[in-house]
Amino acid sequence: MNIHEYQAKQVLKSFGAPVSDGRVVTRAQEAEAAANALPGPVYVVKAQIHAGGRGKGKFKEPEAGEGGGVRLAKSPAEAAKFAKEMLGATLVTKQTGETGKQVNTIYIENGSDIETELYLSALVDRGTGRIAFIASTEGGMNIEEVAEETPEKIVTVGIDPATGCMPHHARRIAQALGLKGAAAKQCGRLIPALYKAFVEKDASLLEINPLIVTKGGDLLVLDAKMGFDPNALFRHEDILELRDISEEDPMEVKASEYDLSYVKLDGNIGCMVNGAGLAMATMDIIKHYGAEPANFLDVGGGATKEKVTEAFKIITTDPGVKGILVNIFGGIMRCDIIAEGIVAAVKEVGLEDPLVVRLEGTNVEKGKEILANSGLKITPADDLEDAAKKVVEAVQG
Ligand code: ADP
Ligand code: MG
Repeated sequence: MNIHEYQAKQVLKSFGAPVSDGRVVTRAQEAEAAANALPGPVYVVKAQIHAGGRGKGKFKEPEAGEGGGVRLAKSPAEAAKFAKEMLGATLVTKQTGETGKQVNTIYIENGSDIETELYLSALVDRGTGRIAFIASTEGGMNIEEVAEETPEKIVTVGIDPATGCMPHHARRIAQALGLKGAAAKQCGRLIPALYKAFVEKDASLLEINPLIVTKGGDLLVLDAKMGFDPNALFRHEDILELRDISEEDPMEVKASEYDLSYVKLDGNIGCMVNGAGLAMATMDIIKHYGAEPANFLDVGGGATKEKVTEAFKIITTDPGVKGILVNIFGGIMRCDIIAEGIVAAVKEVGLEDPLVVRLEGTNVEKGKEILANSGLKITPADDLEDAAKKVVEAVQG
């Protein structure tokens, strides 16, 4: 689960990280007063969407003005003008895709005098199973580009969970960022604070781009992104409250209501599978036969007929889906339950796309019988390979 920049800054501030003073605005009328409450004299008006690249982004609507999603205002009145232009408009950035994202919230922040822009992030390094910091002097820019063109400018510092974050970690990062004097000292406090925030809140990603050194020589978090492990949210009510459903894929929201693991992808073959490992294998074999999966969907071990019905409905309402592959290995999950779910869902929403079903395991005969007697146009498959071939053929003609 991701949160907005202003929320990430609040979280980081509560752990002692230095952030600017700012105000959240959702209605244009509130903007001028919000800016007036800040010290000024420069105000930065920032569109809050769950995507980066806002500064270089463009609004779809001409009324939103020429500027991107991060604008410098020289007075509270100008900040209010920018907020009014951006609110409700659609911002397209490198990360939003062509459709862009509607701006519903604005963050007005005090402007800073920037000396240098640095890059700092923390993530779970799956290779080492540790939290790692990534630091670079090339802040403010697209870090993927830096990684590609000048990888030597990116320094990774892994933290051993047995020791936790130690002073030498912070010193190495300060050095990698080229910090001296007061800023280096502040880095010595910032790194353990970020590590603590990351661990205590079960974050999966923390990205500060840019972390700046001000003209006065102080470190400041100027942009912040945070993502959290969805499986740990049950123990972080404060973080869960920060969820903004309007930023999420509507189908993923629906899936989470039914406790289904669903991730929307760009291909055209919808998959319904039980078990994450089998779902991955199913996606792999679809790719192997030359097509792309439209989603990852794990209905889980002990799904009910209702859950299967909802899962099937989610797949069929995706306009990108041109064919469906159901791949079930019945263990705890019974094949007849899956079959009943499919039949119920098709009765409700209809079925226009080719449907290939591979059932195996507990109650497989009963499941096959239900499907065969349903009168639905279903292509049965004997094994995973056969199923993948059949659905790819059906879609590609
Ligand atoms: P994004 O990464 O989505 O484009 P940022 O918050 O990083 O958004 O802002 C883009 C750029 O705008 C920053 O790299 C920085 O140069 C400038 N900027 C952002 N916030 C401020 C601020 N409070 N004061 C001065 N400049 C800012
Ligand atoms: Mg940024």
